[in-house]
Amino acid sequence: MRVSLDSSVLIDRFGRQVNYLRVSVTDRCDFRCQYCMAEEMVFLPRAQVLTLEEIDFICRAFAELGVTKIRVTGGEPLVRNGVISLLQKIGEIQSLNELVLTTNGSKLATMAEQIKEAGVKRINISLDTLNKLKFKQLTRTGEIDCVLKGIDAAIAAGFERIKLNAVILKNRNHQEVCDLVQFAVDKGIDISFIEEMPLGVISSHQRSEAFYASDEIKTDLATKFNLSALADKTGGPSNYFLVEGAQTRVGFISPHSANFCSQCNRVRLTAEGKLLLCLGNEHSVDLKKVIRSHPGDLAILKQTIIEAMKIKPEKHEFNLQEQPVILRHMSATGG
Ligand code: SAM
Ligand code: SF4
Repeated sequence: MRVSLDSSVLIDRFGRQVNYLRVSVTDRCDFRCQYCMAEEMVFLPRAQVLTLEEIDFICRAFAELGVTKIRVTGGEPLVRNGVISLLQKIGEIQSLNELVLTTNGSKLATMAEQIKEAGVKRINISLDTLNKLKFKQLTRTGEIDCVLKGIDAAIAAGFERIKLNAVILKNRNHQEVCDLVQFAVDKGIDISFIEEMPLGVISSHQRSEAFYASDEIKTDLATKFNLSALADKTGGPSNYFLVEGAQTRVGFISPHSANFCSQCNRVRLTAEGKLLLCLGNEHSVDLKKVIRSHPGDLAILKQTIIEAMKIKPEKHEFNLQEQPVILRHMSATGG
């Protein structure tokens, strides 16, 4: 068992350094994606959600502990009032190398410029299908036209990198993987395919029945594209390939078929201020309690975060065959 000796960085019992924080700024969303949420959701009362100042304070503590990358996510981060000023604040943290955002794209058409000006360099936009009807079915409340306009606005705003995220479900959208890559190639952007994770109880489908492995996607893509493996892992769970004759990188996030836990460099802050040590386990520490009982005390907060590294689990325990062990939905987690 290895424990950190240097208290200015975050190292867990397995020798993994945590330098990446994902921050969920709200559990709310304007979509109800089938794989992410139940149709009827109960959201957190506002008083339980961290204020923007509290989120900024926690981000600063992490930055002082060696975190160099912060992703703002949700729920849908762009439905949170004041999110642009929060991005500006986080963007001012000197030691951060990367401030990035994950969004469903519904509000990008009007917000892309401001997000870029706030200091966000890279942006992930979720898009699971190009079919209008299917988009409505999968998101329940979303309009594809808004998202397509949002993608164009993001391209026009000139982010360093734009990546689409597509969760692929068998017999729902698996037939579209080539079209989605072609769309990314035409737009000059990247795309990652994600295997669905069993987070929270959903009503639309059995997770095991809808499972579509990354290898199946690769086989489908090989009928139309030549993909060459890239050495660059970008420090994350994606394995990247370059589409021959194009700039587009295709990534595969394969929690089931290619476990990446040994490389894990991240933790998550939920909208209600819980520090989640692993996406696929419940180990957490209540940072909101710490900052509300010791307002402004950065030292206590940092010490709590350092201590939390001792309970970061070795790996996730996802099992598609059983009822979900993790009852929180992805939207409450900060995906
Ligand atoms: N609302 C934003 C969005 O959709 O991009 C940000 C939050 S969302 C939870 C972040 C990412 O998690 C999205 O790309 C979404 O497709 C993915 N996601 C949600 N539920 C998932 C699940 N059960 N398994 C795998 N990915 C999931
Ligand atoms: Fe909302 Fe994103 Fe979850 Fe879809 S995946 S319901 S857009 S939080």
